[in-house]
Amino acid sequence: VRALEDIVGPRHVLTSAEDLAPYEVDWTGRFRGRASCVVRPGNTDEVAAVLAACREAGVAVVAQGGNTGLVGGGVPRGGEVVLSLRRLDSIGDVDLIARQVTAGAGVTIAAVEAAAARSGLHYAVDFGARDSATVGGSVATNAGGLHVMRYGGTREQLLGVEAVLGDGRRITRLDGLVKDNTGYHLSHLLCGSEGTLGVVTAARLRLVPRYDERTVALIGFASVVAAVDAATAWRRELEYLEAIELMLADGVELVCAAFDLAAPLATRWPVYVLVEAAAATDPSAALARAVEATVGVGDVAVAVDAGRRTSLWRYRDDHTLAINTLGPPHKLDVSLPLRHIAAFAEEVPHRVVSAAPVARTFLFGHLGDGNLHVNISGVAPDDESVDDVVLRFAVELGGSISAEHGIGIAKRQWLHLSRSPDEIDAMRSIKRALDPTGIMNPGVLL
Ligand SMILES: Cc1cc2nc3c(=O)[nH]c(=O)nc-3n(C[C@H](O)[C@H](O)[C@H](O)COP(=O)(O)OP(=O)(O)OC[C@H]3O[C@@H](n4cnc5c(N)ncnc54)[C@H](O)[C@@H]3O)c2cc1C
Repeated sequence: VRALEDIVGPRHVLTSAEDLAPYEVDWTGRFRGRASCVVRPGNTDEVAAVLAACREAGVAVVAQGGNTGLVGGGVPRGGEVVLSLRRLDSIGDVDLIARQVTAGAGVTIAAVEAAAARSGLHYAVDFGARDSATVGGSVATNAGGLHVMRYGGTREQLLGVEAVLGDGRRITRLDGLVKDNTGYHLSHLLCGSEGTLGVVTAARLRLVPRYDERTVALIGFASVVAAVDAATAWRRELEYLEAIELMLADGVELVCAAFDLAAPLATRWPVYVLVEAAAATDPSAALARAVEATVGVGDVAVAVDAGRRTSLWRYRDDHTLAINTLGPPHKLDVSLPLRHIAAFAEEVPHRVVSAAPVARTFLFGHLGDGNLHVNISGVAPDDESVDDVVLRFAVELGGSISAEHGIGIAKRQWLHLSRSPDEIDAMRSIKRALDPTGIMNPGVLL
């Protein structure tokens, strides 16, 4: 602690139980542990010095941004130093020629979008935790979000990073060259590495054109099959789709009850789909034609103005918060071939109940990407029987145990279901090469 105080100043090393508390528990309340201290460096040199001091002392380090990660990878397990990157919150000028911006690791996703918007551009990655999740955390988790279908996830926006590796070597790839074919893409290797190889201190991000002509529709369906068929048709016919999100009636009702909202449609439908289109010219007519031509569409609510669009999005965005009101959930974010989504959605609640009779399953997700969030309430945080059932079922249908949240500690024991022994061995070799003393987030991912 004294060594760290010498580096960042005593004000930025937290040691009291009260100060440590918010850094020691994850957003869901399911994962918690004790930190020896929290250190808050203010620049990249301080990050490097903190890592050197920790290497010297043989103390492990957990990097933490907004602490909104959902797989327990950003909170300590026992005695680690939590390295909070939130003070690295400066953002450069938007480069209008290249359509790029450099942001410090501690800049929030909402702040990147605000900077882009001031320049008439848009940051393509967006998700419910936008006000707290950071650039560093989103790079470390390769966060997906609501617009992957159109723009890809974080890795697709990432031109390069500045980072300090576990062994102290530095990477500086912030020049924003779109083409630079000079060997291993170390920035993309760090993207999705969950703090196990090094600390990302800044990122160079691609921005996309800003489309202010937007239409959101919330549509009721009688079944998931009908919703998947509709999504398939819209993806084929509509150029400007930004999002196709799936919700089920019990999740929407939970959101309404938790936040005192009226039901979104006059009739209760078993399945709801929220679809957003955005373009330089008003996409409403094209969206309306596509929806009208779709078999199985029930009621529809449409929003064009910003306030009403936000109101419709709340039914989807607030799922995570509403589910948390029932106690710490098991959050299982799986990827599935689109043709198996409906079968999975129908069968998975039954499999969960057979493993844990009191469990309640809530399903929602990014339908356009084949990504379902399986949220299970009413099961003790350390009872992993439901996790086992759900993850095995996803893999049985040709899916992956993690679509976008990562592995963390939550899914570590099931990594072998999605990765071969050779792949896991290659990952271990990379880890040993870049973090030979093993101080970076030990126990996470591998
Ligand atoms: C309401 C809600 C909605 C969400 N929706 C989505 C969604 O749609 N899509 C999605 O992908 N995720 C989603 N998430 C998950 C989460 O927001 C993302 O994983 C986000 O990228 C985490 O960012 P963070 O700054 O909070 O990282 P943290 O939670 O602080 O850390 C996450 C991981 O990254 C590592 N890390 C953090 N900062 C750094 C750094 N600078 N260098 C190296 N490693 C670092 C940590 O050690 C940890 O392993 C959601 C979460 C919530 C609470």
